[in-house]
Amino acid sequence: MTQPDTNGELPAPAARVAIVALNLPMDREFDYLIPEELSGQVVVGGRVYVPFRNRGRVLGYCVKLKAQSELPEGDLKPVIKSLDAEPVFTPTMLKLARWMADYYQCSLGEALHAALPAAVRARGRRRRIQFTCLATGAEEAQRQAEAVFDKSPAQAKVLRALVGIGGEAPTAELLRAAGVSRPSIKALCKRGLLRTEARMIEPEDPLLAVQAELQPPHVLTSEQRRAYELITARMERGRFDVILLHGITSSGKTEVYLQSIARLIERGKQAIVLVPEISLTPQTVRHFAGRFRRLAVLHSRLTESDRRKQWHRIRAGDADVVIGARSAIFAPVPALGLLVIDEEHENSFKQDNVPRYHARDVGVMRALYDNALVLLGSATPSLESYHNSQVGKYTRVVLTRRIGGHPLPPVEVVDMRGEWAGRGEVRVVSHRLEACMRQSLAAGQQVILFINRRGYSPYIHCPRCGFTLKCRRCDITLNYHRGINVVECHYCGLQQRPPQQCPECGLEQVRFGGTGTERVEESVRELFPQAGSIRMDSDTTKARRAHEEKLEEFRAGRAGVLIGTQMVAKGLDFPNVTTVGVVNADVALHLPDFRSRERTFQLLAQVAGRTGRGPAGGRVIVQTFMPQDPSIQAAARHDYEAFARQELPLRRELGYPPFGRMARIICRGRDAARVEGYTGELAEALRKLSGPGMQVLGPAPAPVAQIRGFQRRHLMLKGPDAGAMQQVLHAARGLLKGPAGVKVLVDVDPMSML
Ligand code: ADP
Ligand code: ZN
Repeated sequence: MTQPDTNGELPAPAARVAIVALNLPMDREFDYLIPEELSGQVVVGGRVYVPFRNRGRVLGYCVKLKAQSELPEGDLKPVIKSLDAEPVFTPTMLKLARWMADYYQCSLGEALHAALPAAVRARGRRRRIQFTCLATGAEEAQRQAEAVFDKSPAQAKVLRALVGIGGEAPTAELLRAAGVSRPSIKALCKRGLLRTEARMIEPEDPLLAVQAELQPPHVLTSEQRRAYELITARMERGRFDVILLHGITSSGKTEVYLQSIARLIERGKQAIVLVPEISLTPQTVRHFAGRFRRLAVLHSRLTESDRRKQWHRIRAGDADVVIGARSAIFAPVPALGLLVIDEEHENSFKQDNVPRYHARDVGVMRALYDNALVLLGSATPSLESYHNSQVGKYTRVVLTRRIGGHPLPPVEVVDMRGEWAGRGEVRVVSHRLEACMRQSLAAGQQVILFINRRGYSPYIHCPRCGFTLKCRRCDITLNYHRGINVVECHYCGLQQRPPQQCPECGLEQVRFGGTGTERVEESVRELFPQAGSIRMDSDTTKARRAHEEKLEEFRAGRAGVLIGTQMVAKGLDFPNVTTVGVVNADVALHLPDFRSRERTFQLLAQVAGRTGRGPAGGRVIVQTFMPQDPSIQAAARHDYEAFARQELPLRRELGYPPFGRMARIICRGRDAARVEGYTGELAEALRKLSGPGMQVLGPAPAPVAQIRGFQRRHLMLKGPDAGAMQQVLHAARGLLKGPAGVKVLVDVDPMSML
């Protein structure tokens, strides 16, 4: 890439001032003097160390050079060090970061920071990693966990997590897995139950280790060929464009990506493939590794040194294809030709901290700057993308048939209102689902049960006085985990013993309401003691390879039933599964979110895609208390168009996306009165700034009104288009910083309303 403002003839006069963006929430960049000894060494798009206020030396990104500053030179501080002779950000990436800062209301430095993996940001040195290991056997550790629980639940958590992970783990990983802080580990070391040690060996990465034999491409079906031809024709043009590949599950979308990429590589360009974190499995990587030798994998579990290596390879143009989760959108390929976003409707493409970007939308901008083609793939496109194809912004191409000709499985909706189990409780497994499971298992086939909640029961309540047990720091109910006999907050991780009696009225029979994975597992064991079951949720897959191992176990037929959260709903391919049960289809429907119907539809469609892939066929049983709900009905008929037809008019009527844009503003602080006061002021100010067509909804308590002791109130900005909304946000930018004690979070195009 060339610098735009050198003419290539005369050497430009050495720039004396660098404009530097810092990873801090401030709306401006800062001028720094380039001292004599660094003259010519600071480059636009390169990293520098600079002094900043009382923080000492901080890392920054040089975004521009100039001959002199508008400020008196005596006021400028000098650049301490330049880290790069070559820019780490190309002009396009700088432009993209500017757009992100503008659109997502963050600083340029924050946007640049997000675009560079941590391992590349700081100077590359090999780091020792601290490991924590059990100093006793696993059984003794379990016993100690029980014993210590009442005194220190956090210590109990560490011990249990470590046993779950296999007795030792990098300390950072353990802290994350257990959701506790360092002192708990220290205390356990002191008691002789744990020890820590530094190790140089970094853990190996299961995705990089994937070895695959090169696989020849499949002969495309006529539908695939039509899609492929459209894609490659657009690719040849070398212009920005977006194609939506709308293909039902198992229709061979991946094969279309693979062959399109192969064609692109012949033209000397590179492709980036984004997949949801949860689908970035060895199985997926193997698919790509089987076709492309020059493949790079980027994901969050990579070790620092691997990530750095991959990044530099990519930057040097040594990888033709980069596959990764959300942040791979920033992969520094030198000549992006094709950007594939698989499962484009997935929420995990949206980052939930600053900058709160959506990788699909950033991707579309990047492709625009790079003159690249975007290929969005999904069986259940987001209504935003579908709408864009309806109004002609994107071109939609459909795949309507499954590979191998197997039809989509029939879906039966079971009305749970008639399924009583006595004692006023509803059965976990309906009579119909039980019968189907029995039939499949008797034929030596397998079953997947899906329930989007971990633990045993999501709430504890008193049938006499109506009391429900809530987290004292967060405004949500505590989940009962029977295996370890604790109640846990799924927001902050707080654990305590379940109450023996109602804390309000003293009744001795509190009730464990609702159903999580543990309770489903218990029911399956009661109903089918011989079948064997595997439970997959974030509690049982903490260990490094647990996820992959459990799936392998199931694939090998060592258990008849797989029970899991959304981990089992995505992209897995098990030909021997002939019954899939959705234990409770209503979980997502009840959330206070305008996308709840869309989520429910998507989830059911994905789950239904898990069966009927083999010659034995398959069926799906959906359990619900709302059998007439249109999104459940449409999913049962595999009818995306019907779903879109009924949902889009509702969105239009209320001005929700895709017919309008939203931004959500959350104010958070310890002091309820202060938070309430400021949110009110902010709402007032935003109303004044809003032009016609803009709406300010709220303020109101956020649906989760308290998290970790922080009070949360929110308001919603709704407008006809992005431009109008951005205008208001920019005008209010000063107010969005918040006063002391109140933190303001701005979420543009929010995906979560909680
Ligand atoms: P999707 O991504 O649409 O769910 P996949 O790409 O995973 O579907 O395809 C499903 C299966 O069909 C895969 O095992 C894939 O290898 C296989 N497949 C795809 N295209 C063809 C083809 N043209 N001929 C034979 N098998 C194919
Ligand atoms: Zn909590």
